[in-house]
Amino acid sequence: MTDDGASAALAATLAGHIRDIPDFPKPGVVFKDITPMLAHAATFEAAIAGLAGPFAEAEIGAVVGIEARGFIVAAPVALRLDAGFVPVRKAGKLPWEIEREEYELEYGTDLLEIHRDAVVPGERVLVVDDVLATGGTAAATVRLLERLGAEVVGLAFLIELGFLSGRAKLPDRPVTSLITY
Ligand code: AMP
Repeated sequence: MTDDGASAALAATLAGHIRDIPDFPKPGVVFKDITPMLAHAATFEAAIAGLAGPFAEAEIGAVVGIEARGFIVAAPVALRLDAGFVPVRKAGKLPWEIEREEYELEYGTDLLEIHRDAVVPGERVLVVDDVLATGGTAAATVRLLERLGAEVVGLAFLIELGFLSGRAKLPDRPVTSLITY
């Protein structure tokens, strides 16, 4: 099977374990529920392998997960890449000195935070989250990491909502996703 064939097969497997929840958390949003995938060991394992695979030779020092579902996916990717895990959290959760970045929501803004010593200047990092939607969260995470001097080698998502054009907020960076809607 070619790489394209393998990734098409993985996308098909994932599709069978992702549940659409209409009008959650508010009317008009179709929420992509990954809990069936997480509960199915073989599919979860295949997803982690699919996320880590393109970066196996990239000498990643840290995998950065975005709260909260990003943590579930980023931590096993980190172990698979022999890298550390770094959490990016919502405001007020991290106990030590932080850097903070604002990002836009549909209505208003929110804050993301990272510990100041979470990465070292020049460190090669991979950002992982469950869903790339508008890209605002991922772009704010990239800004945080670059402010700390890290090199963002790429971003990897289980799911990309292509119709929201999140990639446009992440120009000039390798972005991979396992399944696009
Ligand atoms: P965005 O900043 O718009 O790219 O949104 C990305 C964040 O919101 C991710 O951390 C996702 O967990 C979450 N998210 C956005 N849209 C959805 C969706 N349709 N289903 C599940 N999670 C979503």
